[in-house]
Amino acid sequence: MSAHNVYPSSSSQSPGPAARPDSKQALITVVTPLWNESDTISALAAALRKLFQDTSVKWEWLAVNDGSSDDTAARVRKEMRGMEGARLVCLTRNFGQQAAYRAGLDHASGDAVVFLDADLQDPPEFIPEMIARWREGARLVVGRRRSRPERGVRGLLLRGFHVIFGRLTNNVMPRDSGTFGLMDRVVVDELKRLPERNLFLPALRCWLGYRQATVWYDRHERAGTPKQTYAKLFNYAWNGITSFSEIPLRFISWLGLFLCFFGTLCAMLVLVQRIGQWFGLWTERMVMGFATQTVGIFLLGGVQLLCLGIVGEYMARIFREIKGRPHYLVEEIIEEKSNPKKI
Ligand code: UDP
Ligand code: MG
Repeated sequence: MSAHNVYPSSSSQSPGPAARPDSKQALITVVTPLWNESDTISALAAALRKLFQDTSVKWEWLAVNDGSSDDTAARVRKEMRGMEGARLVCLTRNFGQQAAYRAGLDHASGDAVVFLDADLQDPPEFIPEMIARWREGARLVVGRRRSRPERGVRGLLLRGFHVIFGRLTNNVMPRDSGTFGLMDRVVVDELKRLPERNLFLPALRCWLGYRQATVWYDRHERAGTPKQTYAKLFNYAWNGITSFSEIPLRFISWLGLFLCFFGTLCAMLVLVQRIGQWFGLWTERMVMGFATQTVGIFLLGGVQLLCLGIVGEYMARIFREIKGRPHYLVEEIIEEKSNPKKI
């Protein structure tokens, strides 16, 4: 079955097998990565407190401090006071959003794990709906954005990325979905088994398969300034494309083939001209102009460098995989109602 057949077109998912876990009250871990989110912590904590009032499940807040240089960690610790089971995993430096989420996966103990950005762009109010889909049998529930607030260049780039990514990867993940979603323990454990360093978790979790459902929502404005800078976003997007598509490499082969064909055509033209001269069909020599040659040299040089660059990008990723460095390093884990655990 092709990847794009996996998703239902609406949030309704036909009831699956028995709800999990059946024998005890389910534990849901909410993972939030934090990088210099000092301004947003209190709003986030308030939203989570409201969410945790739903006592049909047990909750665990797992915050991952991704090497913040402001007082994010101190503020989180303050907010976590009295929140049972809350934990703060502090990484040794800024490893990036995907690595922080991966740290969350590794430390979550829930029967299901929810990914939630700290900026509240993805509304936590939709988490109960995700849990309902999970109880109906979906192993993975993905949040899909009906609308997004980003405008201007950022909005254009984000929308463009989703279109291109969908085309290049045969829609490995639902269009306009991001990290916001819920994963069953089975999905979490399978994700943790995947060794790849170039993480693009929104697509990777969908690639696993299993029964999947979607929940539609409108994305909110961000609280605080965006932490995914253009450089980080570009890197993230390129990681996604190179992890799930070999089309850029195939494009080089097609381009090479086209240029070979074009070159052969030119050679034949020159040959025909020479033969024509031998037989005296025409006496004038067709000399290509200086400008044409210069443009040709620059263009071909550029194309070659571009192709070399694309191959290099894939090689750099292979290099990163081979080195096998960990996704992140943990400095300390702070558990509510316990002393900091030094690693
Ligand atoms: N984030 C992180 N490490 C980074 C960059 C971002 O942990 O290096 C976190 C950030 O604190 C937020 C989430 O990732 O909780 C999403 O960041 P942002 O809202 O800036 O990204 P966007 O909404 O553009 O995807
Ligand atoms: Mg955001």
